[in-house]
Amino acid sequence: MQDAVIITGSAAGLGKALSHTLSSKGYDVIGIDKNGGEDILADLSTSEGRQFAIDKALDICPNPRAVVANAGLSPIHEDPFAILEVNWLGVKELLDAFLPSLASNSNGCAVAISSIGAAVGGDEALINSLLTGDMVNAQSTLTKFANSSQVEAGIIAYSSCKVAVAKYVRNNSKLWGDSGVRLNCVAPGRMETAMLDGLLSHVDIAPGIDALPTGITKSAPASQIADVVAFFLDPDSSFVHGQVLFVDGGSESLLRPEIF
Ligand code: NAD
Repeated sequence: MQDAVIITGSAAGLGKALSHTLSSKGYDVIGIDKNGGEDILADLSTSEGRQFAIDKALDICPNPRAVVANAGLSPIHEDPFAILEVNWLGVKELLDAFLPSLASNSNGCAVAISSIGAAVGGDEALINSLLTGDMVNAQSTLTKFANSSQVEAGIIAYSSCKVAVAKYVRNNSKLWGDSGVRLNCVAPGRMETAMLDGLLSHVDIAPGIDALPTGITKSAPASQIADVVAFFLDPDSSFVHGQVLFVDGGSESLLRPEIF
């Protein structure tokens, strides 16, 4: 296969919606997920699974046109340490690994999926450990939170990873731009998927989600966020690079109006 779009977390939610959107526009899509009948079945919570996904995707398509690092675990996942693996390493390691192949495609680009959780904020020490690649320190920082509350540790792990993902995109605009590959980030707000359903049915988490300020619309179907990702991937967006776009009905602008 030539010129395909590689999507992680393609079996459900945003990844599935994006596969449909891009397929309907005529793109070839390679889906990676730990579930479902995807092209590549891989568990991105392990380094072996991530390497398998990378190798297999490049076997299928050595010159992808795009990668969307979308797979993510919910803040209420039972193992907060797995959140670091999937939501951070599952983004960073895959994007790093795919850069040379994307550079071989004249339309090469990538989108990383962050979250409104990044605007709420994570733990600075944990974020720094993730960004500097110090996973031992990241795990020991997270252990301190997990020792007092598993739920809090999940939220901290999730929001810290999502800050790190957004910062990864900002920090890499020079390196990726020099390689001729556009890199952007989409940060959804309340997106109508199984992940949001789970959060809204969690007695400790639902009040925090409900308390998020709403600018104009409280939530949106995944297909709407998929359309925004598709905009970033479009060759006509060739001037759009290094950006983090919150697609959240205005929540982020209400939370921190001074940041632009
Ligand atoms: P979802 O739970 O509906 O789907 C996530 C997909 O990722 C699933 O198909 C799942 O199997 C896959 N996945 C999870 N762990 C994996 C692993 N270890 N290896 C391979 N695949 C794995 O979630 P969603 O709502 O579609 O979320 C997509 C992205 O959007 C995530 O990064 C999430 O953090 C982010 N996000 C979601 C919301 C929301 O409200 N739903 C809000 C902000 C950001």
